[in-house]
Amino acid sequence: MEKIGFIGLGRMGLPMAANIMKGGYELHVYDVVASQLEAAIAKGGQSCSSVAEVVEKSDILITMLPNSAIVREVVSGGADAILSYAKKGQLVMDMSTVSPETTDFIAGCCADKDIDFIDAPVGRLASHADAGQSLFMVGGTEAGYQRVLPLLKLMGSDIFHCGGQGAGTRTKLVNNFLAISYCQMNAEALSLASGFGLDLDSTLDVLYGTTAVNGQLKIAWPAKVLSDDKAPGFTIDLAHKDLSLVVEAANTQAVSMPMAAAAREAFNLARSRGFGGDDFSAMLDVHCDLNQLDAPRLSKGSKYKPN
Ligand code: NAD
Repeated sequence: MEKIGFIGLGRMGLPMAANIMKGGYELHVYDVVASQLEAAIAKGGQSCSSVAEVVEKSDILITMLPNSAIVREVVSGGADAILSYAKKGQLVMDMSTVSPETTDFIAGCCADKDIDFIDAPVGRLASHADAGQSLFMVGGTEAGYQRVLPLLKLMGSDIFHCGGQGAGTRTKLVNNFLAISYCQMNAEALSLASGFGLDLDSTLDVLYGTTAVNGQLKIAWPAKVLSDDKAPGFTIDLAHKDLSLVVEAANTQAVSMPMAAAAREAFNLARSRGFGGDDFSAMLDVHCDLNQLDAPRLSKGSKYKPN
């Protein structure tokens, strides 16, 4: 059995480390905060007094740290950094949420030392980490992925190999953009409902029964724009009209809806570029066109392609 090093034993790292130990692995743990280190030792971790000691005693080195700067420092920064001591055959797996530039930089530093690197940021909440039910977005080689898979299975229930090094971190940003933006969208929608004096349960009954809870991406888009079908459906012109009704009604109620206003302008821009008659899922093509990107399409064999 490989020996595991775990650096960063905070709200996420501590339960993740504990779940690896439940699988029978020898775990060498380190954190700059004594109380966090002690909590990991209480769960069966073997205490290390430095990064150097973790590297010396482990085959796979996991980092679960707050941010990009700290990850760079711990992996490749100063004298007591993982890569100051790591040797060929060891593997570094960073599970923190960091910038793509940080992941690419660290992957490059690891490659210079012939050390495999995996980025595997975590989806879902701390409560899922407690229960070993996290979701992982993994970037790296197939060999590296297979090597860390037994550990990921102990820490989580849904594991996706998203592509080569950096694909995990990049997928995480796409995911978190939607997951977090929806907090603002939800806030605006339920504020408007409150301004209208609507009953919350009745409102939720309706929202959960339509594409409002991002059924667009899950149901409508695979059949429409992602399958190259932009025939309306529901046109961008009509969607713009409805967003105008929303923004104007909210203004009448003195309810501020910044995302709704921004979305209305985006739909208006699409109209100005001649897309008003297309299905409203074609907003994807408008946005990709503005950014000089290829518009994504499902491949013929994609599991997301409707029958
Ligand atoms: P946290 O602040 O609770 O834990 C980070 C740990 O790293 C702390 O114990 C801290 O003492 C330790 N640390 C800081 N600098 C260190 C160093 N130089 N050497 C060793 N240890 C050091 O944060 P968290 O909530 O566990 O999040 C960790 C990462 O996971 C973040 O990147 C976060 O964005 C991401 N994430 C968090 C959640 C969540 O719900 N909390 C969910 C998904 C992803």
